[in-house]
Amino acid sequence: MNEKIDKPAAGVKRTGQKAAAKPSGGKAARRPAPRRPAIPYTAAEIAEIFRRFSVQRPEPESELEHSNPFTLLVAVVLSAQATDAGVNKATRALFAAADDPQAMATLGEDAIREHIKTIGLFRNKAKNVAALSRALVENHGGEVPNDRTALEALPGVGRKTANVVLNVAFGEETLAVDTHIFRIGNRLHIAPGRTPDEVEANLLKVIPQPYRRHAHHWLILHGRYVCKARKPDCGACVIADLCRAEVKTADVPAPLTPLPPGPPVAARPA
Ligand code: SF4
Repeated sequence: MNEKIDKPAAGVKRTGQKAAAKPSGGKAARRPAPRRPAIPYTAAEIAEIFRRFSVQRPEPESELEHSNPFTLLVAVVLSAQATDAGVNKATRALFAAADDPQAMATLGEDAIREHIKTIGLFRNKAKNVAALSRALVENHGGEVPNDRTALEALPGVGRKTANVVLNVAFGEETLAVDTHIFRIGNRLHIAPGRTPDEVEANLLKVIPQPYRRHAHHWLILHGRYVCKARKPDCGACVIADLCRAEVKTADVPAPLTPLPPGPPVAARPA
């Protein structure tokens, strides 16, 4: 356990390693590949971190309420710079009025705006939801496509939204880096990166099978309820013994017990 990554797991590349020098044969030496930050964990330690998350929540769930891929897509589009609880509050009535692309397109931008006016950026989001609903009807037979390129071509849908839909609705091993996952990747030095895309790429390199499918939710839930931004709750952390964060305040891991698949009961709306 104390040996650092010398022999990465399959698909895990060693970080902080210089590109192997090639014989120059008199020619100018090749420029070395950019250095990736070193990860202070062995492959076995990273596997153990995700094994514990998997014991806590074998089948984690999205906190965004949805009933099909379309309502999931809309909820994720609405969740940018908004809380899941705030989105759920607005979408209950919205999805009662329209829960498929045709119905949403018929409902129209003005009515959508009325339903979501408690959510930040609601004007722009209403425009996008109306436009993406029309695009799904016109170009995809009223279905949400199981395809990154097609998803990212929809109004208001970027890489992060596509990753959530591909993961939750279609079971793909994607990872949408939100503020919590970005913080954990850097704070724990498990997948350091300057941008969400870098953290995503580095996490996908180190997370072993069989944990890639649910890593997205485990990390979000861990970041939201335990490894919090201002004051991480290290005493309640099941990976406290493995964590290499400078800010950690405990070395003894919390007992590993199964938790509800979504938020802790205490954090659920009454
Ligand atoms: S020990 Fe503390 S800093 Fe490390 S993962 Fe747990 S909560 Fe976060």
